[in-house]
Amino acid sequence: MQKDIGSHAPCATSPAGPGQLKPTPKEVYIEPTNRCNELCLTCPRTFFQREPEADLTYEAFVRILDQFPGVERVVLHGVGEPLLAHDLPAMVAEANRRGARVLFNTNALALNRRLAGQLVDAGLDELRVSMDAADRETYRAIRGVDGYAKAMRRTEDFCAHLGERGALRPRVSMFFMAMRENLAQLPTVIEAAGAMGVGTVVLQRLVYFDKGLAVAGQSVMGEVGAEVDRLLERCEQAALSAGVELVGTGRRPAERDEPGRRPGDDYPPDDKYRRG
Ligand code: SF4
Repeated sequence: MQKDIGSHAPCATSPAGPGQLKPTPKEVYIEPTNRCNELCLTCPRTFFQREPEADLTYEAFVRILDQFPGVERVVLHGVGEPLLAHDLPAMVAEANRRGARVLFNTNALALNRRLAGQLVDAGLDELRVSMDAADRETYRAIRGVDGYAKAMRRTEDFCAHLGERGALRPRVSMFFMAMRENLAQLPTVIEAAGAMGVGTVVLQRLVYFDKGLAVAGQSVMGEVGAEVDRLLERCEQAALSAGVELVGTGRRPAERDEPGRRPGDDYPPDDKYRRG
């Protein structure tokens, strides 16, 4: 199983021997499972299968965490759906117990009420729901399964669960992978997010690798013209009306859409969504 460990974060230090200090990352990415219940046409997993399916065990997770004393942020996703990992709540609890902020991206399909309660109890800090569409057909065209209604319902139920408990954590956001295929639906996604109590919508750039929908022609970053500009204005207005924070990568040059960059790598960004 791939354990994708981020190494770009600032480093803490840990004793390496008498009189020596060894730098250790403050942020780690750990993949709890490489299994998934979707077939997104923007995901390498859909097109390339390089490893047998497996979950990370809790014991292996602890051994990994032990290598990062002082870690401040643990991101529990890689290529796979974290909610399918058998030991996910225990992993969240353990990382939380060590004082780290814990978060992951999810498609929310498996976010039933029992699991929701376990994750809140475990101290999850942030839940990021991937939502690239505002209707069933577009969702299916992008994510490969008929999951729109269920993903929305599960997210709404989760927000309601937080409200019932008066829980301030986790912070819930929606991640929208912006493409020509779906950008027109972003204002509706923002409205729906606001209606169910999701506080933030993140406009995520497409990472393309020339398969499925992950192709340069779908990119909406860079110089894409007045039509996209108008649409982004509508998104800003929708966010204002819905009381939703809209953040993202902004109208940066197209080279930011380079292959190999990880979705959400620069979120939470210090930039609110800015228009170029
Ligand atoms: S839900 Fe995530 S891991 Fe699964 S296919 Fe979609 S992008 Fe890939």
